[in-house]
Amino acid sequence: MQINLISDTVTKPSPGMLEAMMTAEVGDDVFKNDPTVNKLEEKVALLFGREAALFFPSGTMANQTAIKLHTQPGEQLICDKYAHVYNYEGGGISFNSGVSCRLVDGHRGMMTAAQVEEAINPPDFYHSPLTSLVCVENTTNKGGGACWDMEELERIKAVCHQHHLKYHLDGARLWNALVAKKESPKQYGDLFHTISVCLSKGLGCPIGSVLIGDRETIQKAVRVRKVFGGGMRQAGYLAAAGIYALDNQLQRLEEDHNRAKEIGQALQALTYVKKVAPIETNIVIFEIDQSQISTDIFIKKLEEKNIQIIGMGQGKLRMVTHMDYTEAMHQRLLDILGSL
Ligand SMILES: *Cc1c(COP(=O)(O)O)cnc(C)c1O
Repeated sequence: MQINLISDTVTKPSPGMLEAMMTAEVGDDVFKNDPTVNKLEEKVALLFGREAALFFPSGTMANQTAIKLHTQPGEQLICDKYAHVYNYEGGGISFNSGVSCRLVDGHRGMMTAAQVEEAINPPDFYHSPLTSLVCVENTTNKGGGACWDMEELERIKAVCHQHHLKYHLDGARLWNALVAKKESPKQYGDLFHTISVCLSKGLGCPIGSVLIGDRETIQKAVRVRKVFGGGMRQAGYLAAAGIYALDNQLQRLEEDHNRAKEIGQALQALTYVKKVAPIETNIVIFEIDQSQISTDIFIKKLEEKNIQIIGMGQGKLRMVTHMDYTEAMHQRLLDILGSL
């Protein structure tokens, strides 16, 4: 039994999903003629109570498109120091948009409204870059799957409104937050100018993200997506996976969250585990006491038992639960952790 806890992106399409993909009605989406892509976009827009949505091959491209739409070259965006848009999108913010980042020293990837307000450059002081956008991430990836407090997000929106800033949500794992905190997509739709969501993480699709916003913004996004090389043809085969996932594989995220918490408890019991970060969703981040066992040796010991996890540097390790991590695998992992 091979147990892969490297990421929730390692999943393969379920039989039901494959069936939905095989039988999808498709057309050429570059001509906006793919009925299944159109259906997915309408479905997601409706879910969030917004006018429009656009299907993307990746979350990176969806985020980068949003940043391009909300900024001009030379301007600055505000995000947490852990933000995916800053750390893991290949420098795309500067490459694609000519924009710099003001990093905020938040907690587990989350900033306060006061920190955001403090990071805004005075608009009439022409020596500093003009602040035009605030990006937040929910759940936070590098922050260990932490979920934002809705009231803080609302306070940041008020700051954005007051200072005429755009407000973008990188919601790659927003589904996990919605399930964990029993929130509705509409609550988020009301708050942000644009939201990106991934279908290829916890929802278990092989590919795909969606950008959500008002009609005018999404119309412009079609052009930016084209410029970024992301127009796809019979993409309905992929969109069908997204529709299937939203209908059938959303609520089960709760299982991933429960298993992650149980893994956390098992880790806590090990003498050489120094600290387990609070577990709110499907990401477990923990620290090893390197004087007892190095992270490399710990990873190797698990590998010998056919368990794959990932190191994050500085003695930190990560496990992510997902659809293809079954109950049998979970019991086996707990047994192995207990006997290491
Ligand atoms: C995975 C992820 C993305 C997008 O990643 P892609 O691999 O490009 O789909 C964006 N933001 C966060 C927080 C993520 O975890």
